[in-house]
Amino acid sequence: LALVTCGGRVEPGPAPYMDSRLAVEDRVDDLLDRMSLDDKLGQMTQPERRYITLQEITRYRIGSVLSSGGSAPTPNTAKSWADMYDGLQRAALAGPLGIPLMYGVDAVHGHNTVVGATVFPHNIGLGATRDPRLVREIGAATAKEMAATGVDWNFAPCVCVVRNDRWGRTYESFGEVPELPSMMTTVIDGMQDAGPASVLATAKHYLGDGGTEGGDDRGDTRVSEKELRAVHLPPFRAAVKRGVGSVMISYSSWNGLKMHRHRYLIRDVLKRELGFTGFVVSDYNGIDQIDGQPGFTKDEVSAAVNAGIDMVMVPAKWRRFIDYLRDAVKAGEVSMARIDDANRRILTKKFQLGLFERPMADRSYLTTVGGAAHRKLARRAVAASQVLLKNDGVLPLDDEDKIFVAGDSANDIGMQSGGWTITWQGKAGPITPGTTILDGIRKVAPSASITYGKDGTGIDGSYDAAVAVVGERPYAEYHGDRTGDLGLDAGDLRTIDRLRDAGVPVVVVLVSGRPLDIAERLPGWDALVAAWLPGTEGGGVADVLFGRTAPTGRLPVTWMRDGDQQPINRGDGKRPLFPFGHGLTYRWLRSG
Ligand code: BGC
Repeated sequence: LALVTCGGRVEPGPAPYMDSRLAVEDRVDDLLDRMSLDDKLGQMTQPERRYITLQEITRYRIGSVLSSGGSAPTPNTAKSWADMYDGLQRAALAGPLGIPLMYGVDAVHGHNTVVGATVFPHNIGLGATRDPRLVREIGAATAKEMAATGVDWNFAPCVCVVRNDRWGRTYESFGEVPELPSMMTTVIDGMQDAGPASVLATAKHYLGDGGTEGGDDRGDTRVSEKELRAVHLPPFRAAVKRGVGSVMISYSSWNGLKMHRHRYLIRDVLKRELGFTGFVVSDYNGIDQIDGQPGFTKDEVSAAVNAGIDMVMVPAKWRRFIDYLRDAVKAGEVSMARIDDANRRILTKKFQLGLFERPMADRSYLTTVGGAAHRKLARRAVAASQVLLKNDGVLPLDDEDKIFVAGDSANDIGMQSGGWTITWQGKAGPITPGTTILDGIRKVAPSASITYGKDGTGIDGSYDAAVAVVGERPYAEYHGDRTGDLGLDAGDLRTIDRLRDAGVPVVVVLVSGRPLDIAERLPGWDALVAAWLPGTEGGGVADVLFGRTAPTGRLPVTWMRDGDQQPINRGDGKRPLFPFGHGLTYRWLRSG
């Protein structure tokens, strides 16, 4: 930028906002002075990448784009993401003031939309580790893999406090008490303090997403303000203390009022009381739901922005959003002061991230994507997240043992990774490179004799032990696929029964996003391990099964005796199968 006009004056040299020696505040002031209303509306708009062209990004001065599950480039590699990002960024920089855009994705357990990236355990497993330093390292590793692709904004961490395990996002929670998500906000430091690889983190979903009646996704959290503050607010307080760059609003309501219009909780509590200085983003089409009718109106746009939402995630109807917001400003329904405040918050983060100085993808990080160091870290996290719930003495397995391995999740990267992996819902199969739990078992104990039969057929009584790796199929949001009894499905139960019928000790490894209803079956199992959703490095499960490392994970949620006990963590005297914090260990290890 050689010449810039400001209020009709022509200034020599670069404008002050482009000068990295100046304080961020001064750069923001200078830039804001130069911006038209259209420039400002564009900054507040976040379309989905697949619904906008490069020309439109330039023309509408778009502030940010996102990719949700369905809009990865083809082929879906880190390199193609970097190329895509740079193209979008060039389009943004071609706008009249050259303001870089931010690209947001859900890298909720590693940079999980990219084939070949390291996929870490989902939050519920990390909650079981009780290890905030490990979680911080995971945040930094995720940031590096993101930086390689240019993507500079992560819609993570979810700091929800899950209060009913029927909720289909239970696995996105670090645990059922506020202390767990609060202590794991170290992941924010990992993401935001990764040097040139730093990305913006998002604490989500504000407020009360995990506390809805019946565990309904996008439901209503019917609690007193006292309980809301005691249970759901502390992780956001912790995140704000760590300087989290953005906060995403929850689809849910508090006592019937949609969070997307909740001025008291957003403006008064989050921004004023907690002192949050970053920017607030809506959830995907979140403003559509304010009045309960499909689609959004001008009134819903005004309500959301006046409530304190600074950027609106409007995947497809972004033009309409811009028009409505412009109309609302002209009609005096949204003040210019509110628009300027939103822009100030967004631009401050862009300057702080160094986007004006380094707008393009940093390809020097490409080698870290799915690299050995990150996979090693993930494997360590997997091992640390295993919770040994029951052990009659069959674990740890012996290296010389004859072992039969079965179950739909034993040899399947997609199953062990769960939702938010490559696609939004995730799916079974070899969807990205990694080590299955079976691969891990074979590698850890090369002198053991391992036989694999997916559904358990072919087992005979000559085995020392059988391992059934069973659980949930991938899902994301809503209730998942288990609105009913939260039990294992018939196929899994048959597999386990085949192993039992052979008369050998049976170890059940549950690969699931939440506790399952297994109390009636448990007496027939010799050992039970909660493996949660370990991600691509399933070898960490084998490390624990063979005693290379002792199980140290402890339950981040109470384990119900039966699905009807949900919600079970309200202190109302229900008797759980395993209490919060439960986790056994071994008295000795094996060196292999
Ligand atoms: C989810 C958010 C996510 C957003 C963007 C929404 O459906 O609730 O957690 O960040 O989609 O993918």
